[in-house]
Amino acid sequence: MSSVTVCARFRPLNSKERRDHGDSPCIQSVDSENFIFKDGKEEESMFSFDRVFYQESLQSDVYDFLARPIVQDVANAISGTIITYGQTGAGKTYSMEGPSILENKDQNKGLLPRVVEGLFECLKLDDETIKYTVKLSMVEIYMEKVRDLLDLSKDNLQIKECKVLGVFVSGVTEISITDAAEALVHLSNGISNRTVGETQMNMESSRSHCAYIFTVQQESVRDTRLKTGKLILVDLAGSEKIEKTGAEGKILEEAKTINKSLSALGNVINALTDDSPGRVNHIPYRDSKITRILRDALGGPSRTALLLCCSPSPSNAAESLAKHIKSTPRGNR
Ligand code: ADP
Ligand code: MG
Repeated sequence: MSSVTVCARFRPLNSKERRDHGDSPCIQSVDSENFIFKDGKEEESMFSFDRVFYQESLQSDVYDFLARPIVQDVANAISGTIITYGQTGAGKTYSMEGPSILENKDQNKGLLPRVVEGLFECLKLDDETIKYTVKLSMVEIYMEKVRDLLDLSKDNLQIKECKVLGVFVSGVTEISITDAAEALVHLSNGISNRTVGETQMNMESSRSHCAYIFTVQQESVRDTRLKTGKLILVDLAGSEKIEKTGAEGKILEEAKTINKSLSALGNVINALTDDSPGRVNHIPYRDSKITRILRDALGGPSRTALLLCCSPSPSNAAESLAKHIKSTPRGNR
C-alpha cells in the first residue's frame, strides 16, 4: 500500500497582512506536529500533521523531511509523488521552485532543484552494470486540457494506459537529462513557457496544475532487465473558495473545474490512506486529468508527500485549513 505523508507549511506574513491584521499570526505552535488555530471568531482548535513547518522553516527542512526519502526510493525504482496544495499566494510555487529555479547556489532554492540534485546523487552512475536513463516531461493542466510545457504546439495531449507502460501522456515531449544542471535549464524553460501561455491566453498560473514528471529507468547490462521509477512533482492550482472570488463567467468555470479536480485528488488520497475495515477498494482515479496522470505514482508500493501551504494571516487561515484533503491526527490516518 502506498504511504502518504501530509505536512503543513506556513509562510511568513506579508506586508499587506501585517498592515491589515497586525503582526500576530492566527496559529500557535504546539510542537513539530501540532498547532492551535485561533482567528478570534471560531473556537480554537488543534490540527495535527506528520510535520508542521512554521514561518521560520527553511527550504532545506522541507526537502529533508518530505522529499529526500521519496527521491531515494525513486532511485531504487519505487515511484513517488510530491504535491503542493493551498490557496493562491500561500507559498506553493515558492516551496516548489524557490525564488528562482536557476539560482541553484541559493539556500532558498525550492524542492525541484533539490530533488534533481538529490536524484543524481542517489543514482549509482559509476556502477557499470547498470545503465541509467532519466527523462523529464512537463505538463500543465488548464480546464482539464493537458498542455506540453516543453513544446507549446502540443496543447491537447491525451492520457493513455497500457499494460507495459502503465499510465502515460501520449506524445508528450520527453527530454533525456544527464545531470542536475541540465535538468534545471529545461525546467526553467518549461516554467517560462507557463508564463508565456498565461499572457497569451490571459490565464494565471494559479488557475492551472503543473506536473513535473521524471522517469528514471535502470537497465541491467547483464540481462537487460528494466526497472522504472517515476517521480512526479505537482504544483496544484489555487484552492480558493468560489464565493470569495465573486466569480462569474469564465472565472467561475475555472474555479468549478479546479475544485472538481482538487476534490477528485482528495478522494483518491483519502481512499488510498483509508485503512478502516469498511473501506471501499475502488480508487476513483478516472475522475480528473490530474489523478489519471498520478495514477501509477500514487498507487502501488509508492510514497506520496502532500505539502499544504498556508498563509498565517487570520484573513486567510480558515480557508487554508483544507476542505478537500482531510487533516486528521497521524494515528487516525
Ligand atoms: P502560490 O504559488 O501558492 O500562489 P507563491 O509561492 O507564489 O504562492 O507565494 C506568494 C508570495 O509569498 C511570493 O511572493 C513568495 O515569494 C512568498 N513566499 C511564499 N512562501 C514563502 C516563504 N516560505 N518564505 C518567504 N516568502 C515566501
Ligand atoms: Mg503558484
